[in-house]
Amino acid sequence: WFQKPLVVVVIGASGDLARKKTYPSLFELYQHGLLPKETMIWGYARTAKTHLEFRDHLHPHLTPGQIPTSSKKLKDFLELCYYHNGKSYGDNEAYAAMLGEITGMDTFNAKDANVLYYLAIPPNVFAETVATLEGMPNAVVQGKTRFVIEKPFGRDTASCQALLDGFKGLGEEMQFRLDHYLAKPMVENLATLRMANPFLENMWNHEHVESVHIRFKEPFGTQGRGGYFDQYNIIRDVLQNHLLQVLLLVAMELPSSLFDSAGDESDSFRQAKIEVLERMPPIVLEDALLGQYDGYKDDPTIKNKDTNCPTYAALRCFVNSKRWKGVPFILEAGKALDQKVVDVQVKFKNRHPFPSNMVTIEVQPKPSMTMTAHMKPLGGASGTMDVTTTNLTTDYSFDGSDDILSKPIENAYSRLLLDVLRGHQNNFVRSDELVRSWEVFTPLLHQIERDNIQPVMYEYGSSGPSSRPAFMDEMVQANMKSSL
Ligand code: NAP
Repeated sequence: WFQKPLVVVVIGASGDLARKKTYPSLFELYQHGLLPKETMIWGYARTAKTHLEFRDHLHPHLTPGQIPTSSKKLKDFLELCYYHNGKSYGDNEAYAAMLGEITGMDTFNAKDANVLYYLAIPPNVFAETVATLEGMPNAVVQGKTRFVIEKPFGRDTASCQALLDGFKGLGEEMQFRLDHYLAKPMVENLATLRMANPFLENMWNHEHVESVHIRFKEPFGTQGRGGYFDQYNIIRDVLQNHLLQVLLLVAMELPSSLFDSAGDESDSFRQAKIEVLERMPPIVLEDALLGQYDGYKDDPTIKNKDTNCPTYAALRCFVNSKRWKGVPFILEAGKALDQKVVDVQVKFKNRHPFPSNMVTIEVQPKPSMTMTAHMKPLGGASGTMDVTTTNLTTDYSFDGSDDILSKPIENAYSRLLLDVLRGHQNNFVRSDELVRSWEVFTPLLHQIERDNIQPVMYEYGSSGPSSRPAFMDEMVQANMKSSL
């Protein structure tokens, strides 16, 4: 894809995701010289705008500190950006007119171009968009086509299946289902940490691990996005996708190679994740603590003032494999908590009388790994078993110059777009993986809705419901309750 002309079409270009993530990432790749030499980026949405108005709309989002607004690179990049509006996302004529404009440009060899459609639209318009784009005459652009699709991929197993059906005319290799957590540096690092460090990998099993705790804590509430959030809740918004993906990388059997004998990317990595999912029974209500922060319902965008939507959830799951038999995996996520952090805590079984060791892999805000080590206190009396605990920490963030070009590409969206151009699928979610992942959560989600299960209220800015410590103890102590 790097050798041929490229047309990127951002569908839903007037929206939040496009301006905050898609275009800034494309700009980052452009600055690093990682887009094909001949590239054009077209935005499509219903809002009427001229090319120039659209460029003005993008401009403030492409200048995050280090790029001077007058930069030549920025000006050149904006000149690659065009815009077309239509009546709807199923507007045949509008898409055809846009493709007509693209092929009509003398400065661009559109006939030979590959096309990347980035769907930055709500899922309710995916199907009509794809059906219309599929129906476009091939004569316009003859290269290959790829689609980037954003979460949420459904609300439960059935709606996920219905969304996938909308895409079934496209081959699996054309679809890149994006979960940006998969490209966060410390998440990408998980497989390498295990592969390259036998002292970790050899202990990465039920004989040595007592529990695995994957946390997502946000110190703010819905901030006016309650209308969207209330339709989904924290389980659908964070646990079923981001935290589950992290769990799969922690729990999977490591593939022996990421490439096949021909040197192409093999699918063994994604297959290994699916094998974990196949061993995960559905999560049950008894293994869930659900909370809602005080003041959530005051968000003016929330229509249902009796909503039971959880803004906090801690869920225990199991992976019934030989490696993980009986080990509780706790996924915990919440809004309006006391801290901003995403991490994985692997707690090892202790050797009596010493305390447990812990490996903490912090995904954000400070990508790092910390291991606890117990030592004899300096100057402590001889002949005692007293220990003091110290932390061994590695920092995994780039600490170099402010010059963007000398930095590695760390931004998850930019890294994933680069993967799409390379045709690398490992960091994207396969359709069968998606269906299987919903099967783990759907019975619980349906029960919460059907039985109107009430969340426990918690104070804004606290560590969650007051019953949290007791729940965590119970979930970890009863660790042999696996549904083998
Ligand atoms: P958005 O701003 O609400 O929507 C994007 C564009 O789609 C809008 O500018 C609007 O454009 C059109 N649109 C909105 N609602 C529509 C409707 N009901 N019917 C038809 N068109 C509609 O959404 P977004 O935040 O950019 O997110 C786009 C997709 O990415 C969503 O699936 C979202 O869940 C997902 N996502 C977003 C983020 C984020 O940070 N924003 C993060 C992860 C995933 P026109 O009115 O001009 O057509």
